[in-house]
Amino acid sequence: MPFSYERARRELLKEQEELREQLEHLETAGYEGIGHSSHMAEDATEAFEQAVGVALRRQLESSLDEGERALVKLDNGVYGICESCGARIDRARLKALPSAGCCITCQARHEYNGTRVKSR
Ligand SMILES: [Zn+2]
Repeated sequence: MPFSYERARRELLKEQEELREQLEHLETAGYEGIGHSSHMAEDATEAFEQAVGVALRRQLESSLDEGERALVKLDNGVYGICESCGARIDRARLKALPSAGCCITCQARHEYNGTRVKSR
């Protein structure tokens, strides 16, 4: 099956929808109230849960960000172009990961360096 931009867009939109739902769920689950407990042990548990919640939320937001950027790139006709080196991203990679912002080579290099490709 040939690569389809429409399919990529549909998948990205579906993914964004799911990510937003997860974020919403995370917010309604309630990780607030930290430090208001009178028990030290409960505070520790809450602090841990909040840390997990914050990490998860950050991850979700970053995924949302990536998806949003990919959608903008689709609109601008630059979808599938590596943000780091300008090379064409492998179609198989885009199929597996529609929000991929850079090619596999750059991704590997960034991961090796311990950094992520981020615009901010
Ligand atoms: Zn690249």
